Amino acid sequence: MQTIADRLINTRQLIHKATVYAKRPEHSVQLLAVSKTKPVSDIKLAYEAGQRMFGENYIQEGVSKIQTLNTLTDIEWHMIGPIQSNKTKIVAEHFDWVQSVDRLKIARRLNEQRPADMPPLNVCIQLNIDEEESKSGITPKDLPDLVEEIVNMPKLTLRGLMAIPANNTSPDAQHKTLATLQTLFNDLASKVDTVDTLSVGMSNDMQAAIEYGSTMVRIGTAIFGARQ
Ligand SMILES: *Cc1c(COP(=O)(O)O)cnc(C)c1O
Repeated sequence: MQTIADRLINTRQLIHKATVYAKRPEHSVQLLAVSKTKPVSDIKLAYEAGQRMFGENYIQEGVSKIQTLNTLTDIEWHMIGPIQSNKTKIVAEHFDWVQSVDRLKIARRLNEQRPADMPPLNVCIQLNIDEEESKSGITPKDLPDLVEEIVNMPKLTLRGLMAIPANNTSPDAQHKTLATLQTLFNDLASKVDTVDTLSVGMSNDMQAAIEYGSTMVRIGTAIFGARQ
């Protein structure tokens, strides 16, 4: 049976291959290990295998893991799930990144509630790039206004964009979506100098996402196994 350490090695190799294939520099794509629903013992195994960036979707679960693992001070914790406005405080107090900022109200509250003695919270704006009913995120036309607000918030650092493209489309539609996302990202990065992150690509679309400039892939199942 493959261990978490084996699966991490495989995943890193796939990322490396896709990066070479896309003629992009080595180490230009980071791996976020998505540990939602998985026990702390699995996170520790991944940590021992060298993984340092972890993503969680559920606030209570994520905060409880952060507290349990607080002696591992070099873990970088990313919130990647939807946030209700009455939960922003606990997110602002515990996470290093929030990739799922999808409205002004959430950004404002995170900025106000980030503790003064912590560094600014790194944030990505979540785009609903295929305008799907079932997904969170803003549409591209609303992006400029939200960017303008966030860049003026002292306790937030805008790092980039996050998206979950539709997964049952043709390769052509998938590539078109990824190309649109890449254009939006490049445009944003040319205007805001803290922007360096395009978070797109999961197990099923990682290679295509890397071809289209992803700088961070979010992988759960391929590392930790299927979820219940
Ligand atoms: C669950 C999740 C992932 C990882 O999905 P896998 O299919 O397990 O690799 C990535 N991004 C987000 C936003 C998720 O919710």
